[in-house]
Amino acid sequence: MIALKPDFCDITLPENYEYGMEDYSSAKAKWCSGCGGHTILNSVQKLCQEEQLAPEKTVFVSGIGCSSRFPHYMKTYGFHGLHGRAFPVACGVKFRRPDLNVFVITGDGDCCSIGAGHWVHAIRYNMKMVVLLFDNSIYGLTKKQTSPTSPLGTRSNTHPTGSVLPPISPVQATLGLPNVSFVAQTVDWKAAHLHATIRKAYEHPGLAFVRIVQRCPVWMRDDYEPTVKDPEAITLMHHENGIALDEKGMKKFRKVIEHDPSDIVKARENAELIKDSTPIGLFYQNHAASRYDQYGAHNLGISTEDRIDAINELMDRYVI
Ligand code: SF4
Repeated sequence: MIALKPDFCDITLPENYEYGMEDYSSAKAKWCSGCGGHTILNSVQKLCQEEQLAPEKTVFVSGIGCSSRFPHYMKTYGFHGLHGRAFPVACGVKFRRPDLNVFVITGDGDCCSIGAGHWVHAIRYNMKMVVLLFDNSIYGLTKKQTSPTSPLGTRSNTHPTGSVLPPISPVQATLGLPNVSFVAQTVDWKAAHLHATIRKAYEHPGLAFVRIVQRCPVWMRDDYEPTVKDPEAITLMHHENGIALDEKGMKKFRKVIEHDPSDIVKARENAELIKDSTPIGLFYQNHAASRYDQYGAHNLGISTEDRIDAINELMDRYVI
């Protein structure tokens, strides 16, 4: 577990200072060449700059995996946590500090396997944060083991003759959870759509869950390459309340369907399309879902002092 505190804490900025991209870039990303992580990082840094997010008011929380190195590459606060534990850390941060911009960076193993319980409850708690699921359908950091989203038949070090269980669809699973408020899907190699999706997620008032189909050229080239090369392999879900793309951006897609993101039944149906053509866009958005961060400590009727007293009282019981 590493808590990251960059050097901005010791710097006083001039009044009306405008943040540039360099204010969000930390160490050079150590992902492999061609890894989809690079484009996602670039898009997130661009969002931070466009929104002029104060680095000292922004925190990136991750678990374990290739994607979870992300907080090291941002010049903001960060927490590189334990495998599968990004959600509870992020929820704790948001609950205690609702003034912070909270981002969760997680991978398919991190979120959908060991972190699955936390994923379910974080969606239900619906605290305002952006969740970016980097889904490369494999355990990349540990050199190719089957992940919960690996397509059936994937050959890996754990299943040399091919995986035997059908994969979890993170989109379908999230759409089935109570109090879900935002589910979108994009791919890392469509930069304009990726950025528009991350922006829409940032603007959402609750927990915005974004599955990003991510290229892993080292272990899963055969898995994503047909989708990258075939323009019919992606279906754009379009709607005036969906992900905003200009005319030029729209022209890049051959298959386009209309989808109203207020329709959760249709959203679940469209999530099934994944078998033939990966649907990207906003599946579902509900602005009215309850948000647990709106019931901060004060709204629950417990002051910080009362909490500290309660903890001290509890700990005193164990004093001999
Ligand atoms: Fe990216 Fe795959 Fe390399 Fe990990 S192993 S950094 S996911 S290309």
